[in-house]
Amino acid sequence: MFTKDQRRLRDEAREFVRSVPRELILDMDADRVQYPRDFVRDAGRRNLLGLRFPLECGGRGLRWEDEVIAIEEVGVLGTSLACAYVMPSIVGEALNSFGTAEQKEKWLKPLLNGGKIAAEALTEPRGGSDFFATTTEARREGDHYVLLGQKRFIVGAAKSDFFLVYARTDPHGPPHRSISAFIVERGPGVEAEYLYGLLGTRGGGTGRLVLNNVRVPKENLVSTENGASNIFYRMMIPERMTSAAGAIGMGRAALEVATRYSDRRKAFGDKIRRFQAISFKVADSITTLDAARGLVYAAARSVDANDTPERSRRLVSEAKKFATDGAWQVINHSMQIMGGIGYTNVYPIERLMRDARLIMIWTGTNEVMDLIIQHEYYREILSLPAETRDTEADAQEAERTSEKVYE
Ligand SMILES: Cc1cc2nc3c(=O)[nH]c(=O)nc-3n(C[C@H](O)[C@H](O)[C@H](O)COP(=O)(O)OP(=O)(O)OC[C@H]3O[C@@H](n4cnc5c(N)ncnc54)[C@H](O)[C@@H]3O)c2cc1C
Repeated sequence: MFTKDQRRLRDEAREFVRSVPRELILDMDADRVQYPRDFVRDAGRRNLLGLRFPLECGGRGLRWEDEVIAIEEVGVLGTSLACAYVMPSIVGEALNSFGTAEQKEKWLKPLLNGGKIAAEALTEPRGGSDFFATTTEARREGDHYVLLGQKRFIVGAAKSDFFLVYARTDPHGPPHRSISAFIVERGPGVEAEYLYGLLGTRGGGTGRLVLNNVRVPKENLVSTENGASNIFYRMMIPERMTSAAGAIGMGRAALEVATRYSDRRKAFGDKIRRFQAISFKVADSITTLDAARGLVYAAARSVDANDTPERSRRLVSEAKKFATDGAWQVINHSMQIMGGIGYTNVYPIERLMRDARLIMIWTGTNEVMDLIIQHEYYREILSLPAETRDTEADAQEAERTSEKVYE
């Protein structure tokens, strides 16, 4: 289904993925590397970061439909490297959609050529799902804002050059109109105070970010004061699209290992793939991955086509939920297919499993995805235009309204 250009892009991404030394993956997983800076630099040098951003900012002027192809490929490396790869696409969205020309020049360009590393700081120790309850504050002092607060679980906290930070600028205003977004450079008062001992997704420098009266020039305000809710909603697209596309790559990597294994491993005198209990797990898994890919591409097309924000939001949330739940199931099946050896580090399934557990939690938990999906679907279905068929009437006794009791 790819165009010739998309096939070329996929092959280019595959070539980049093949070039990544296995030692990097292993060193990150063993916490011997704190952040894969050279990997990001290399992706930038190859012009593979933030593919959908305009050429003049350092992107390739492509679309989401193209970008998800590359992200799926990078996803086979696991969550940490995929996250480092997509972070310019996430933080870049705020700069590209809401930044000034100067901000694009100063922050977006070096982000896309791999010269600077950025992180996104939304979640706080107090909570992540309830974003609009943010307690980090920023108060204006002349030409500066002074930021005070803490952010938790920030990938890249250890090594990033700058952070996109959300902070409350109006302590008394309504939640949706009292938060602003800032570019905060690493410097005095900015500290990664604690690096977490993670189940997986290691080597990405995930830490607690402490902002201790950090002075940020007013030029680093992105968009308007108290105007960050638009940025937040916009950024949920790249956050969730990238999680979804990367998840497919991870599931694919595990399934390929397990499928090949099942064609070699024997039990009771036969290859284990001859047992339906094994081959049907393969069938289930590849069906799940293909369905997830279909949903991710549909979501990508919806965003590319400037579909209504409500429908794009629903599709993007469905894609994130389905692809991440699906990747987890596929990796679990893959481990079961491999028996005991799949549970060891002789094969990469256990690492992919540890990585994959996170993707159902971050960039909005899958429960939060359910909240959004049902909300948008109710809204759509309850305002369905009259020209659609009234299928409720297609029942023998449909006119028996005395039986249609709701309370
Ligand atoms: C390794 C790692 C890396 C991360 N990277 C980043 C990063 O770079 N930047 C960043 O800002 N954040 C990052 N996060 C944070 C992540 O996005 C949050 O952990 C996530 O959004 C959930 O927030 P929470 O942990 O505070 O859980 P809570 O919000 O406390 O939620 C706890 C549980 O309650 C459920 N819940 C909450 N509200 C509702 C509701 N209304 N309805 C139903 N269920 C609900 C949740 O689904 C969850 O199961 C990262 C997290 C980890 C672990």
